[in-house]
Amino acid sequence: MIAFLERFLPENDTGANPEDEDTTNISLCSSLELQGSVDFTSTAPAGKDFGGIYHTKPLAVIKPVSPEDIARVIKAASLSSNLTVAARGNGHSIKGQAMADKGLVIDMRSMDNLIHVANSGGGSSACVDVGGGVLWEDVLSHCVLGFGLTPRSWTDYLGLTVGGTLSNAGVSGQAFRYGPQTSNVTELEVVTGKGETLVCSETQNPELFFGVLGGLGQFGIITRARILLQKAPDMVRWIRVVYTEFEEFARDAEFLVSQEREGESFDYVEGYAFVNNDDPFNGWPTVPLQMDQRFDPSCIPPTAGPVLYCLELALHHHQEQDQSISLDKVVDQMLRQLRYCRNLRFEVNIGYMEFLLRVKQVEQAAKASGIWDTPHPWLTLFVSNRDILDFDRLVFKNILRHGVGGPMLVYPLRRSKWDSRTSVVLPEGREEEIFYLIGLLRFNHRGRGDGVEEEVAQNEEIVRSCREKGLDFKQYLPHYTIQDEWKRHFGKQWPRFVERKARFDPLALLSPGHSIFSRISPQG
Ligand code: FAD
Repeated sequence: MIAFLERFLPENDTGANPEDEDTTNISLCSSLELQGSVDFTSTAPAGKDFGGIYHTKPLAVIKPVSPEDIARVIKAASLSSNLTVAARGNGHSIKGQAMADKGLVIDMRSMDNLIHVANSGGGSSACVDVGGGVLWEDVLSHCVLGFGLTPRSWTDYLGLTVGGTLSNAGVSGQAFRYGPQTSNVTELEVVTGKGETLVCSETQNPELFFGVLGGLGQFGIITRARILLQKAPDMVRWIRVVYTEFEEFARDAEFLVSQEREGESFDYVEGYAFVNNDDPFNGWPTVPLQMDQRFDPSCIPPTAGPVLYCLELALHHHQEQDQSISLDKVVDQMLRQLRYCRNLRFEVNIGYMEFLLRVKQVEQAAKASGIWDTPHPWLTLFVSNRDILDFDRLVFKNILRHGVGGPMLVYPLRRSKWDSRTSVVLPEGREEEIFYLIGLLRFNHRGRGDGVEEEVAQNEEIVRSCREKGLDFKQYLPHYTIQDEWKRHFGKQWPRFVERKARFDPLALLSPGHSIFSRISPQG
């Protein structure tokens, strides 16, 4: 194993002339006999992502139509001394994770849009087979409109691909009950870094199955996933309540996520920090759910600090219930035990699909104003429960007291809902049951990305300060540029990660945008 690791460590120097290598690689790709296509000219979009910070120039973009096409590409790349291959979902990474500089980017969106519901009447065995490049919003509409069924665990925004989120984790307000999306998939079809197409599950090729889930695309390309379904509700009561004290917000949020039984508590629990002023992007106006609702600042106690907290909840229900007053009673009963500012409660009844697609409206508005296309130096962390009060004092109340121009997510998750056999990395300190997701979703309202360097520097300051204070945290959607940082990131999981790499992608062809491993020439 150590010998193998040493092969990964130094930058690979084959001694070959780079121009000769490019020519060889172009002819290698040109001779590929694919059902799909190879594009050497319109490659610019594959060299950018949502983050807008990293830019690369791929050699070619591959538009496969089948797993066989992907297997052919990987086998061909393995003959070259330096070609790398990256699967690109919808390109919503922040720091070039789906890029391959001078390599091949596989556009997963061009694959067959498989969405096939199985056992639709079969209660807990209902599931859907979905292509790796399918968007979650398409899974939603197909399952709900066609079958009255729905996946159990989501992301906040659904313009993401199934393969892209399963390569990370896929987290939203349902994860406290069902775990992340990686906990809700029972089978995968994967093309490995050796070009083998394998079906895997908990019992069949389990090392590949668990490796690929949260595996940052390092071991194989997901071409199909089987996702668990349940009966879809038709309506959602969506609620926001405001807190002035982080301790009370956290106590209530942790209480709610401990209520895991469906029907007995809320179906969705998230939260965010916001600034205690009237700033339209960071402050009070971010809380009301509808145009006719108004945030009355006179309801905030004078003792409140510079930052307030919003607990965001949702309760599923059915149309007929909505007509009666019983839903109001149920909601009142559930909220009664919480300690929010009594006059700062906002709620609305909306359709289930509308609720899950709520960020699409934000996307449309942001595209119209131009801020969707400016750089987004987002930072997402998992912070141990032990250190969350320190994190609040250090980051929300201090470094970020003026906000980030977008949501500052903070909500608890439960470790027991995450499968430790996957490649996902969680805070490892005392392995407490509760840890928090922190999402600093920066939007640049100054336009054209002005000030992005300061935002990047602020993220670095946050990470550095948390480290200096000894806080127990990990990056979610991680990005590091040197292997020692990756070793620290994976901690005690690092040897297992390296072993999986050696087994499923021994030439380190796949997912070079993460800079975890260097490409190995087939000659060794
Ligand atoms: P890409 O960015 O294209 O790819 C991501 C990684 O996965 C790359 O390493 C790529 O090589 C690899 N990959 C892609 N497809 C495959 C495949 N088929 N097989 C193997 N590897 C593959 N995340 C959450 O968990 N919860 C959220 O609520 C959430 N909200 C978001 C909202 C927005 C607006 C954005 C931009 C991102 C959000 N994310 C969220 C992060 C999101 O999960 C990641 O960006 C993820 O990378 C999915 O995006 P993508 O499908 O565009 O994948």
